Amino acid sequence: MRRRDFVRSAGSAALLGALPGCRSPAPAEAPFTLWTWVHGNRDRDTDAWREQFARLREAGFHAVLVGGGDIDLVSGAARAEGLEYHRWFWTMNRNGDAWVRENHPEWFTVSRNLESSLDHPPYVGYYKWVCPSRGPVREYLRGRIADLAAHPAVDGVHLDYVRHCDVILPRALWDTYDLVQDVEHPEFDFCYCDVCRVQFAALDGRDPLEIPDPPADEAWRRFRWDSVTGAVRELAEAAHEHGKPITAAVFPTPSIARTLVRQDWDRWPLDRFFPMLYQSFYLEDIPWIGDGVREGVAALAATDGDVRGGTATPLNAGLYLPALDPPALAEAVATAREAGASGVSTFEMDGLTDDHLAAIRDATV
Ligand SMILES: [Zn+2]
Repeated sequence: MRRRDFVRSAGSAALLGALPGCRSPAPAEAPFTLWTWVHGNRDRDTDAWREQFARLREAGFHAVLVGGGDIDLVSGAARAEGLEYHRWFWTMNRNGDAWVRENHPEWFTVSRNLESSLDHPPYVGYYKWVCPSRGPVREYLRGRIADLAAHPAVDGVHLDYVRHCDVILPRALWDTYDLVQDVEHPEFDFCYCDVCRVQFAALDGRDPLEIPDPPADEAWRRFRWDSVTGAVRELAEAAHEHGKPITAAVFPTPSIARTLVRQDWDRWPLDRFFPMLYQSFYLEDIPWIGDGVREGVAALAATDGDVRGGTATPLNAGLYLPALDPPALAEAVATAREAGASGVSTFEMDGLTDDHLAAIRDATV
């Protein structure tokens, strides 16, 4: 056994042993897999895509998470180079969905100031979100996921934007938007639509608009987490009905995800998680990536038995290439691996220089 593998196995065993109530035995070690997000709507023909994917294959990559572009064309090229093709899907941010915007303006989330994210998108023009509490929204998204999962060229479905709008932005973005977000401001706090208000009142007896200090209210916070989680359960069911795995890009750790975007992701029944451990967004450094991996892996291990049938759900660390030159990328990959990640995913493919690929190869042999 190589030293790194030994350290990793020993680390995992110690971690599992330390978790109270964890019933699963230490799992067989999964292979360390390399994935990358890919913008699929680039102007490339089959040969040009194959050329890109051949570079990935030579560096040891396993799969691509592709958003946009022609499914058959890009998947055909990926598979011809031995890569799995997973379709990257914007879930609750439906800015790009003209049909929903035109036919169902009432599906969009409403802020504590009672403004719709359709008409008053917070931060940026594309921040238009549908409400996960609504039955017809879930049904619609479920249909979209079922269509993708049924597609023979799709090896898996990858969810992104599975959350509410950021009530607090990652720290490095405060300056970008000239904001100080040390508290939850009402214009960024969602969702206070009619359906959320009625559902919460039925559970709790209160109208959320009448809660004196909504950010401090545990029941109201949990309602938003559970609303997103309930939608995710239905989407997972839709993918699994077609025998396809379903994964998600999530905020860096369960605690950050709950605080910033109402994502309680360690309770989701998915097949693999890709926390976006983008250290520069949080004014952090590479060791923070390892800390984040450890928190995520421990949180998944603690909920695997109840939520995901007892399997050791893999976690791939999402790595942000603009903040990682090739030596830093090698260090980030090694750090994630030693912390117990089952792999990494880079954002995004066109940022991978030859030197980046060589660094990844060296870090994973
Ligand atoms: Zn709502």
